[in-house]
Amino acid sequence: NVSVVLFTADLRLHDHPPLRAACEGPGLVVPLFVRDRAVDASGFAVPNRLTFLADCLRDLDAGLRDRGGSLVVRSGGVVEQVCRVVEETDADEVHMASDVSAYAQAREQRLRRALEAFGRRLHVHDTVTTVVPPGAVTPAGSDHFAVFTPYFRQWSPHPSRDVLAAPRAVRLPDGVGSEPLPSRADASDVSPGLAPGGEAEGRARMTAWLREGVGGYEDQHDDLAGDGTSRLSPHLHFGTLSPVELVHRARKAGGPGAEAFVRQLAWRDFHRQVLAARPQASAADYRTRGDQWRSGPDAHRDTEAWKAGRTGFPLVDAAMRQLRHEGWMHNRGRLLAASFLAKTLYVDWRVGARHYLDLLVDGDVANNQLNWQWAAGTGTDTRPQRVLNPLAQARRYDPDGAYVRRWVPELAAVRGHAVHEPWRLSGPERAALDYPEPIVDLAESLARFRRARGLE
Ligand code: FAD
Repeated sequence: NVSVVLFTADLRLHDHPPLRAACEGPGLVVPLFVRDRAVDASGFAVPNRLTFLADCLRDLDAGLRDRGGSLVVRSGGVVEQVCRVVEETDADEVHMASDVSAYAQAREQRLRRALEAFGRRLHVHDTVTTVVPPGAVTPAGSDHFAVFTPYFRQWSPHPSRDVLAAPRAVRLPDGVGSEPLPSRADASDVSPGLAPGGEAEGRARMTAWLREGVGGYEDQHDDLAGDGTSRLSPHLHFGTLSPVELVHRARKAGGPGAEAFVRQLAWRDFHRQVLAARPQASAADYRTRGDQWRSGPDAHRDTEAWKAGRTGFPLVDAAMRQLRHEGWMHNRGRLLAASFLAKTLYVDWRVGARHYLDLLVDGDVANNQLNWQWAAGTGTDTRPQRVLNPLAQARRYDPDGAYVRRWVPELAAVRGHAVHEPWRLSGPERAALDYPEPIVDLAESLARFRRARGLE
């Protein structure tokens, strides 16, 4: 008996229900990854994520080789490639993880139909990419929660399965051909500060975080310069870490920091259950607010300044430059820069979401598109009309200006709070800085937003 395990966003050996199910019997197992032509064509396969992915696949292959197997790589249409491997190996069944995007849901259906056509079964496993499966908790009268707090109240006590050990042995049938493992993208296209990928790396980070970091999370997670968050998001995105295992281990560590951290992991599940129920929310407003976003040359110029980190608002610019340099951004920076584009510049959130997806190593359809909508006030935010003020945010989250000085070298020598308001410096001091004037007047832009939303 032969089973195929199709790896998608679950590139690990530990706590992996599909692999575990396939390895349970005495049979042979084909661990398969398909470099999916449709994903490549969608523009989703960008250099930062391709590079992280290459690390993950190399590490997965190494882990499988330690256990007597190896990773089989194919490229092309995912359904055709899986069917081809099933035919070549005369496999009886295919195991894979469930996932939430419109594309992933359609892929699952197409694969199920194709396999059934020649009498093979597809087993789809929940709780691989989420802690609580989408749809497992619902409010009365709806198929998903549209507000986080009541979701979290039901999510927390929801029973969780046991954490599964990695299989000891993976026995591959003879003679299964594989393409070479994909390589990293050209270094000149990759963010210079990109973190390395792979399960071994993810597990080392998780262990260090739970030992040394999570205790301070409640107090420090919003301190931009302190960098007091886990940075596990790319590992959760590629599935080199299991969210179920992470929640188990964080709960075991205990304390207010771990509780606050688990709550953030619930946000991840929250957005996934929204997207599973409303797949169109990846591209259209979850809640329509009648926005007539700015367009034309001025809006384009402002958007380009925003992407380049040259808006003249130091905290926004610092965040945008961190994104470009690391392929990752602190959550506070993501929120502020998103609010700034969508509400202050009043540019369509999709433009900004696309830019984040072009660079973020953790760029994720559910988390990115729905967090963007949260920040733009078209999503699940319960205060959709609030506008984040970059100066107030600077006072709270970068009080010493250390984050700005780190990411905006033009301002590194500016002392005190002027680092957040360089336009207040005296003429000669100001003129000596190669740093732009603010591209927008905050009071005017706030009035524009409020008018546009019919608030005044
Ligand atoms: P930690 O603070 O250590 O949190 C632990 C984990 O909880 C994260 O790794 C993540 O999986 C989850 N999490 C934390 N905050 C959120 C949240 N607001 N929503 C959903 N899950 C959360 N996250 C992505 O993984 N991919 C994205 O593409 C993405 N785009 C975003 C776009 C915008 C506009 C905003 C405001 C947020 C976005 N986030 C995204 C959510 C969040 O900013 C990142 O998950 C977080 O900054 C990652 O850093 P960390 O792992 O150190 O987080």
